Formats: sequence, structure tokens, C-alpha cells
Amino acid sequence: MSLNDTHLNRQLDLEEIGREMFELVTELFPLCRSITGDGNRATLRRLKRYIPLTLHEVPSGTKVFDWTVPLEWNVRDAFIKNARGERIVDFRQSNLHVVNYSIPIHQKMSLTELKPHLVTLPEHPDWIPYRTTYYKPTWGFCLTHRRFLELSEGEYEVCIDSSLEDGHLTYGEYYLSGEIPDEILISTHICHPSLANDALSGITVAAFLAKRIASLPRRYSYRFLFIPATIGAITWLCLNESKVSQIRHGLVLTGLGDTKPLSYKRSRQGEAEIDRVAVHVLQQLQQDAKILDFSPYGYDERQFCSPGFNLPVGRLSRAIHGTFPEYHTSADNLAFVRPHSLAKSLSICLDILWMLEQNRAYLNMNPKCEPQLGSRGLYRLTGGLSSDPELAQLAVLWVLNLSDGDQTLLDIAERSKLSFDLMLRAANALEECGLLERRAHGQNSGRAFASGPTKADE
Ligand SMILES: [Zn+2]
Repeated sequence: MSLNDTHLNRQLDLEEIGREMFELVTELFPLCRSITGDGNRATLRRLKRYIPLTLHEVPSGTKVFDWTVPLEWNVRDAFIKNARGERIVDFRQSNLHVVNYSIPIHQKMSLTELKPHLVTLPEHPDWIPYRTTYYKPTWGFCLTHRRFLELSEGEYEVCIDSSLEDGHLTYGEYYLSGEIPDEILISTHICHPSLANDALSGITVAAFLAKRIASLPRRYSYRFLFIPATIGAITWLCLNESKVSQIRHGLVLTGLGDTKPLSYKRSRQGEAEIDRVAVHVLQQLQQDAKILDFSPYGYDERQFCSPGFNLPVGRLSRAIHGTFPEYHTSADNLAFVRPHSLAKSLSICLDILWMLEQNRAYLNMNPKCEPQLGSRGLYRLTGGLSSDPELAQLAVLWVLNLSDGDQTLLDIAERSKLSFDLMLRAANALEECGLLERRAHGQNSGRAFASGPTKADE
């Protein structure tokens, strides 16, 4: 089996793989991750069971473009105790209770002094919000609004046993070489603590994708990044600028475990091959899929698509961040993520990568008028193209007509409004009987007759 196998994804046992993926999400869920710290190392080390990830450590204080790698944050415990010494807010029950990157504190204070440091969600009184303070040295607690309303006047013992010290920003990288050095970049963020969909679903889909791609022969090289959002992407881009020119296509993966339809956000280029492939795959497979235009807001596509890089990197998600109530709250929990959604997201990623692998240009070796298909045995060959013989013939005619050495199968699929899959099967049949010749990668122009048969004849 290889990426050349058109049935790659149909061989996925979605139920079985969904179970395995959900197990990983469940295992990673309790770890307290952030943009730096031991929770990230522990997360990445667990991924090593699936793929031989390399862990990189970038020292605090490293200048990365306009940013600086921050001090490393770790938290061991945190609580608010009432006058009776009871933990009424307890980090050990949920790591969302501590505003991520809170500076250490241990003191007694009145409710009036405490209140400005408390965050709740009055509209969802049983949920704990998720908040961060990466670049502002302060501290805070997040709690349910119901618990907040129970707080009475009196003295509270407030403790955040955290450290902010010179350390490292940790990220994971996995590079897989292919036939050509041109790369497909898959990036996912690892910086969220106990949130199942935001971060963990992306990490899981990326890890399973990497494992599967590693087992298959491939044309492209692949680079998988497991990085803290924003500062991680900025750090990687700054330290690896020389590698960026190899990136031909890329996907940011996040929020892929909920039950909403898939959504694809276009790269800044808008019509890059990855954009067209993702749109084609989503529209073929999911009637309700959403296609979003690029905007400079969201996840790490913001950095990859910043004007100085302008990489062809889009984003694949399900529910769109910020548009659903569970976003960045304790309701983004294990019940919010479904094994089937994870597996289906993986399968669609494989479909997208498979199409990128297969998309190439061919040259019609018999461009002057239509070839006599019957005498070349093509009717026999096209028998397997489609159960509809007229459709099969139409596919063959489109591929023959537009295979000028320049236009790819995706170009032909878009223009003919037929599926890429059908175009590929037609091209394979035509290649087999000598009517098409495959163009090597990057050889899409040259001997083309795109400018017209007269010129090609000269
Ligand atoms: Zn988030």
C-alpha cells in the first residue's frame, strides 16, 4: 500500500482508529501544558510512542524576530482556601483554575482584594473559563460562577506554587524524507492545558497522520511540528528560515474532534494548491463543509502566512474557534470530543495529502485530433473508471484534451467539474496505453502545447 493507492483511506478502520485516537486524547488530557514547561515535555514524550519525535529546547531570552522566548513556567499546586482551611478552588481538580503563566503568590487576603483576580463565566455558571497571562506578570484564578457566588466576606489563603525561571521553550519536530525535498508542513499547537478539542485533537490527528505517512512510500517530504501557538511558530520560523523555501504546502491542524462539519481556512495566497485541494476534498466528501477565506486572526496560519513568509498554509478544523460556547472553557472536555470525529478528520487529512501526492501534469502524446480509443484498447481499460460508460468516456476526453504538460489533474477536475479521483483513474488508463506521459515534478511546463497545437507542431 502506498500514497499511490487510491483506496488508502477506505482501508482505515474508522472505529478502531477512532478508539485509539481517543485513548491518546484521554491520556494527555490531565497534563498542564502552556507555552513552555514540563507539561509540554511530558506531552511530547508520550507522542514518541507513536513517532520518533525530536524534542528541541530553545533557551529563554532567545530573540525570535520581534519576540523573545519567555521564562519557563511550571506550576506544582494552587488553591484558594476559605477561613476553615478548605480548598474551595483547587488546581488538583482542574488545571484551568489557575490563569496560565500566573506568577507565584502565597498570602492571605480579603474577598475584596481577591475579587479582581477571579474570572468566571456568568452565562455558563458551571463552567471554568480558560485564561492566560503569558506576557503580563500577574496572577489569577478561574472558577465556576456558581462557586464565585458562594464566596462570603472573610479571609482567604491564596497560593499559586508556580515558577517563572530561565529555562526553555520546548517543541517537537518530525521530518520524513520523500522522493523529492519539497515539503508538506503539518503544524499543530500544544500549549493548552486540559482542553480536549483545542490542542489535543490537533496533536492526536497530527501524530496519527505522521505515523501513517511514515509507513508509506511518498513523493513529498513531510515536516510535522508540535509547537506552542504563536511564540512556537515564530520561534520555529526564525530559527529555520533556511528551510522555509522547501515548503510547498501546509496545514495547521486544530479543533478536529468535535461533531461540527469540517472547515477549511484558505491560506493568505487564497488559491494555492493546498487551498484548491482542500476545497475539492471537502466539497466532494462533506456537503456541509465550510470554506473560510484567509484572515490574519486564528491559529499559527497567522505566522506562516505573515507577509514575509506568505506560505501556502491553510487550516483544517471543525467548529471554528470563538464561535461556540465551549471554546476555551472546561466544557471543552473529553465529552466534547468524539472518537469518530477524530478518525474522520484523520481520514480527510489523508485524502488531502493523497491528492497532493497524486496531483501532477501529463502530456498528451497524440495531441492532433482525438486518438482512436477503440483500437488502443482504451474502452477495455476505461471499464473500471466508472459504472457509467459515458462518464468514463467524458473523463478520458477531458484528461486527453487538457493534458498539455502544464495543467494538472486538479486543474482538469476543476474545469470539467468531475472528481479528481476520476481524473486520476482516467490518466492512469491513458498512461498505460501510451497516450499520456507523466511530467516529473517541476517539469510542468516546457514541452507544453498550452499555447496551441500550431506552435507545438513547430
Ligand atoms: Zn485555543
